[in-house]
Amino acid sequence: MVETKVVIDTLRRLQEVDRKVAHIERMKAWEPRRLAEATAKASEAQEALAQMDKDHGDLQRNIARIELEIKTREEQIQKHKSQMLSASSNKQYQALLREISMEEVEKARIEEQLLEKMIQIDNFSEREEEAARALEEATGELEKVKQEVRASLEEISGQESTLREERRAIASELPADMLRHYERLFESRSGNAVVPANYLPGTGRSEGRYSCGGCNMSLTHQMVNLLLIGSEVVTCKSCGRILFLDEDSKEEQ
Ligand SMILES: [Zn+2]
Repeated sequence: MVETKVVIDTLRRLQEVDRKVAHIERMKAWEPRRLAEATAKASEAQEALAQMDKDHGDLQRNIARIELEIKTREEQIQKHKSQMLSASSNKQYQALLREISMEEVEKARIEEQLLEKMIQIDNFSEREEEAARALEEATGELEKVKQEVRASLEEISGQESTLREERRAIASELPADMLRHYERLFESRSGNAVVPANYLPGTGRSEGRYSCGGCNMSLTHQMVNLLLIGSEVVTCKSCGRILFLDEDSKEEQ
């Protein structure tokens, strides 16, 4: 009788340790992912700034090219204007006038382009400052995450060895077949192998009943009797989980 209670208590202690171990394993997988995410964000910010610098340079070169083009047009116009002064015929004069007027139109078109580019380049310094700030932030965050992850992994590995030792000690108290049964359940039932039998008080004419704390299936009178007697380990007929009687539920009935 006492033995069953000891087995159940041992299983519950083991489950508690196993849940902590499972949590630590998730953390061990999660921390490097967190670091990878922060690293990716920092390099994205770096690339964004580099791209912006490149675009800025391209735009500056573009502006210089347009300015040169305007200067060339102006020189051409001046040249034609002075040719007009020495035009030998009205026909030649008119031809130069048309030429100049076309060149003026073209020059105005290019000047408009220049204006557009000037507006674009005006926005650059603000955007570059913003991108530089974003990079600084991402780099700072990365440093922070690096330290956190390092500290966390160190702490985890310390906890892990303590827990593994604890687990070995607890597991050695259990009969081998019970341990194997529990381990299979813990695996298949996502860390919920040993569950309380929950007592649901009756209402009106309906009697109170016990149900499995894992799958909610009602327990038979015979199962409840076995649990109350406590002479053997009782498992749920529906989900196979190992059941124990919650002391609180016991008092309620
Ligand atoms: Zn069940």
